[in-house]
Formats: sequence, C-alpha cells, structure tokens
Amino acid sequence: MTDTISGLLDETHDPSRTSWVLSANGHCDFPVQNLPLAIFSCARQGPRGGIAIGDAILDLSALAESGLLHSKALVAAQAASDGKLNRFLALGSGPRRALRRAVSELLSNPAHREGVETMLYSQASTTLHLPAKIGDYTDFYVGIHHASNVGKLFRPDNPLLPNYKHIPIGYHGRASSIAPSDRPVRRPLGQMISPGDTAPTFGPSRRVDFELELGVWIGNGNQLGEPISIGAARHSVAGISLLNDWSARDIQAWEYQPLGPFLSKNFHTTVSPWIVTQEALEPFRTGQLARDLADPRPLPYLWDDEDQATGALAATLEVHILSRLMREQGIAPFRLSKTSTANMYWTMAQLVAHHTVGGCNLNSGDLLGTGTISASERGGFGSLLEISSGGQAPIELTTGERRTFLEDGDEILLSGRLEAPGFVSIGFGECRGIVTGARSMSGLFPPSLVMAGE
Ligand code: MN
Repeated sequence: MTDTISGLLDETHDPSRTSWVLSANGHCDFPVQNLPLAIFSCARQGPRGGIAIGDAILDLSALAESGLLHSKALVAAQAASDGKLNRFLALGSGPRRALRRAVSELLSNPAHREGVETMLYSQASTTLHLPAKIGDYTDFYVGIHHASNVGKLFRPDNPLLPNYKHIPIGYHGRASSIAPSDRPVRRPLGQMISPGDTAPTFGPSRRVDFELELGVWIGNGNQLGEPISIGAARHSVAGISLLNDWSARDIQAWEYQPLGPFLSKNFHTTVSPWIVTQEALEPFRTGQLARDLADPRPLPYLWDDEDQATGALAATLEVHILSRLMREQGIAPFRLSKTSTANMYWTMAQLVAHHTVGGCNLNSGDLLGTGTISASERGGFGSLLEISSGGQAPIELTTGERRTFLEDGDEILLSGRLEAPGFVSIGFGECRGIVTGARSMSGLFPPSLVMAGE
C-alpha cells in the first residue's frame, strides 16, 4: 500500500486482507475492508453497537469488556456500547480509526479467532435499529439533474432557479419519523388539489414516491455561533448511509408554497442502519466533477481546493421495485434506476460548511440528506416523479404492471457500491421499505362527520 491517494490509507484498506469470518470474503457489502457500525439487538441482548463482518455482527459491548482493546480503540468501543452511537460519533476520527484498525486486525488474524468468535452474532438473528438518536435532520437538493428534471416539469424554459449554483439548497426536515430499513411505510393522508379545482380534497395520497439519497452522519459538531470552515468540514462527517426520502407528490404540490415541503415529506424517511465510516470511504474519494465554465465560482466560504480535489465519492447507486405480484410470483426486483454520486453538484463538506456558516450548531448524530441523486438520462432518475414525467408516462414492470407512482404492497430497495481500482469494493447494506395501505379515514372524524360510503 502507498499513500499516494491519501495519507489516511492504511493496512485496513489492503485488498489482500481477508477475514477468518469466511462469509466476509467476497461479500458484496461487508468485506473486512468496510467494517460499518450499527445498533443491533437480539433475543438475549438489548440494543448495543456492532460492526458488520460478512453475514455476522461483532458485538462492541462484549469487545469493550474483553481486554482485547487498549487506549483510543477501547474508548471508542466503550462509547459504542450504548443503545445509540451518539457518544461514539462525538469522539471524531482519532478513536474511530483506532477502533477500525484494532477490529480489522482481530477479524483478519486467525490467532484471534478463538477469543473473538464468541462475540459474533448472525445478522439474521438480530434486529437493526437507528444507529443514533437523530436530534435534527436536514435535507438538501444537491442532485443537479434531479433539480433540473423537476424544474423542467414546472418551468420548461428555466429549469434551474438562479440561486442553485451559488448556494446548497436545503430545508429543515423532521427527525422523529426517520426509521431504519425494513419498517413499513404507511401511505399518508393529507390535503391535495385537483387541476382546475379551487378547494382541496382530503384523503390518502395517490402519488407516493421515493427519493434516492445519501444520508450523511455528523460526528463531532460545532458550538452555536461557531461555523465549521470548509477546510475542516470533512472531519465533521462521521460516515454515510443510504436514505429514502419518501414523498407524497400530490400533498407536496398543494402545500409547498411559500415555505416548502411539510406533510408531503414528514410521514416517513428510511435510512439504512449501517454507518459506513469516513475511514472506510477513503479509497473511494474522488475529485468533484468540474463545474461548467459558465457556472459561477462559489463564495470563498464554500470553496476549498483540497475538497474539490478529493471531496466527492465514487459510488454507484441503484433503486429496485418489488410489487406484491412480483413477490407472490417469485419474480426478481425490477431496476428503476442506476446512477452515480458524481451527479452531486455540492460536496458533503460544502453542505456542512453552508449549514453552519450562519452560526447554526450541528450535533453528533444529526443527519443530512443529500437530496435526490439522479443521472442525466431516464435510466438513472432517482424518483418516480422524474421517471414517469410527473405521472404522464407510466413505466412497465416485468409483470406487465404499470406504475406512475407507488401502489400499496410495492417495496422500494436502495443499494449502493463504492468501487476503485486496486481496492476491495464495499456497500451500504439494505435500505428497503414496503408501502402499506393508508390509515382508515373514518377513525379521524366524529361519526357524524364521516360521509356515507367511506
Ligand atoms: Mn429529498
């Protein structure tokens, strides 16, 4: 190994390193080069931190008590023994990296097998939870093709608003309704208005959509009034996950002006439960795609040469759908989209620098969504709003079923891979959710107000 790409590459990224946990070798998501963290529980143990290795989870609480760890690595494992990873995230990169190096050695050197094997659980026997208590959640809009595709639906001649290339657009989302992968997503009720009508109707959304995004986990944050500079911003990001920002387009279209999305977004957000750490991402850093010559240069607080040179990620993201009929007939999920994180107009560091420049404090365990990441062509669109051209052009699934937006029983599966020549590729694990039927409306009103037939 050399440090020609970055001084932070070490023996944990060595492509020849394998694990005595045999399922890790060649694993599409969790080879020994990844080592992401999550909170898990099982029949015998309450929620605690764990590290993925192949099909297994290493119990960090047991590891902290084993005597096998020392100094910073021990501090990190102790902090990760809580039911939430916030205390671990707050430690920053030093202890995080020390734990990674220690765990990589323990899981790759067969001499440690006997001592460590008893701390492993089969992932299939565990439940995964949210990795942290998320104090605040912010969703951005960095997918330039998404912004431009959606803009075109409303403003064919002027898809991107004038601020887009100057400022990372975002809004403050809702943390309470973020759930880990594999929790059902109930179709929301709300107000919507039909074209030509002057008053809204109330009922289940008929335009439930997904949004393919990355989730960015904040490690050590900042004090109120103390911005994080663009040069330091990368060090505030502890790691990333996949994120599905479920959206109700009919509710959104009626409510979003003038203050932005509200109930159309706050009914549910799914995040993959594994935090893929900054250290695991190191081999997959790449330069931010060059801006068009005509694009404005961002203000100095958003610009850092090193961030531009190495602050983007080489990740391929995919979205698949599995309808109820496909599930019943044993048909494989149908791919709706394949795109790349190269389509992000702003880097993660720029999001952090912008979020805090006015003095706003980010806390450990806060979550940022990047915004929908679409490619420029239809096969890479990150939402059904784009794929179906605003509901005008249904897509046909392998069963012959057609979709503009999601039906009850549809499952959406997000996946992602990080690849770089000379390195073992890693993935994020699962980010999935099934849309279920709306809550009965009759329960919402006094009986006298429920109309006949409802
Ligand atoms: Mn979004």
